[in-house]
Amino acid sequence: MLVIDDLKVSYGQAKALQGASLKVNAGEIVAVIGRNGAGKTTLLRAVSGLVRPSSGSIKFHGREIAGLDPDAVKRMGISHVPQGRMIFADQTVEDNLLLGAYIIFGKDKSRVMANLEREYARFPRLAERRKQLAGTLSGGEQQMLAISRGLMTDPPLIALDEPSLGLAPIIVEQILKNILDLKRQGTTVLLVEQMAQAALQVADHGYLLHTGQVKAYGTGEELLGSQEVMRRYLGEAV
Ligand code: ATP
Repeated sequence: MLVIDDLKVSYGQAKALQGASLKVNAGEIVAVIGRNGAGKTTLLRAVSGLVRPSSGSIKFHGREIAGLDPDAVKRMGISHVPQGRMIFADQTVEDNLLLGAYIIFGKDKSRVMANLEREYARFPRLAERRKQLAGTLSGGEQQMLAISRGLMTDPPLIALDEPSLGLAPIIVEQILKNILDLKRQGTTVLLVEQMAQAALQVADHGYLLHTGQVKAYGTGEELLGSQEVMRRYLGEAV
């Protein structure tokens, strides 16, 4: 579904991605793990058109999308749920969701409303708080809102940037269950996480990014069982 080949991205002198290649098969959860500054966010930003790669290719269903602007990428079927959620704090929950759908089918009211109800069914907490200002939600609820907003356009592929950030372990468990549900419902997931163990537990395949390059690849289970990945690159006890 998504094939990234030899992707390079720089911010001025800083080389954030130095020839990263990876694949996402339709229907899978693919985790990208790595320490702070490994280039994970940059990878997602390049996929969704927020940064322009200096070279390399990003193909979605066989079509080159590297360098397209973010709206075009979204229209092609990729939703990016950014790190830190980036919800509109002074808008209601419902307005945040409606804004998520606007760029694609602003005028197709019945589809927007159907998707709104689907998202409320997915996260009843959001339904209860539909008129509440989004900035007053808990961190976990804001993450649910960010995911739902991304789903309002029925994307075949959703890219999630550190959904666990700042959340209590019990809420992280809940979000991981939601991600597994997304997969069951047919959405492909590209999941960037610093919490490697949690991400690899739900991932079909995973990639370890280190200083802008892929240093290891395997099934979630293989990477979880790799001493080299867990100790050398992530510094985690195994
Ligand atoms: P984190 O989990 O901390 O977000 P990451 O793996 O997502 O880390 P990136 O945010 O992609 O890493 O950063 C990769 C590298 O690019 C880092 O060295 C970072 O300092 C640098 N970088 C990221 N954004 C910018 C920017 N806007 N300007 C300059 N350098 C940047």
